[in-house]
Amino acid sequence: MIAYDLQCANGHAFEGWFEDRKAYLGQQKNGLIACPICNDTTVDIIPSTFGIKSSPSTAPQQPSPEEVALQQFSKQAIDFVEKNFDDVGCEFAKEALKMHYGATEPRNIRGVSTKEEEKTLKEEGIQFFKIPMPAPPDTDT
Ligand SMILES: [Zn+2]
Repeated sequence: MIAYDLQCANGHAFEGWFEDRKAYLGQQKNGLIACPICNDTTVDIIPSTFGIKSSPSTAPQQPSPEEVALQQFSKQAIDFVEKNFDDVGCEFAKEALKMHYGATEPRNIRGVSTKEEEKTLKEEGIQFFKIPMPAPPDTDT
């Protein structure tokens, strides 16, 4: 069985079920399909409504101005941090805690921390910023 969305000459839309396309064509030709609303036998299949998308442009997509600004900002932020902050790597949370408790002199540090460590830092009331850095090699696995 096959379902067609049909429309009569008066613009009524309805659905018709047929054995196959040939059966539909035969019935349509012989005026056997009648509109359930006005009984008109001049019916046609409503052109299917699937969307047509223009072929994608081959040119690489340009980033939006916002994306460009964000990228530039991130780069500046990263440059600044790299120049002015000690890289403590995975020791970030440890170092931050040491400073927090006066075990070491306060200084600017940067590094990576796990979600657990971030939670600890937050619980200790230690403020830190997260900025998107080029992803370090994943050592979790
Ligand atoms: Zn009709």
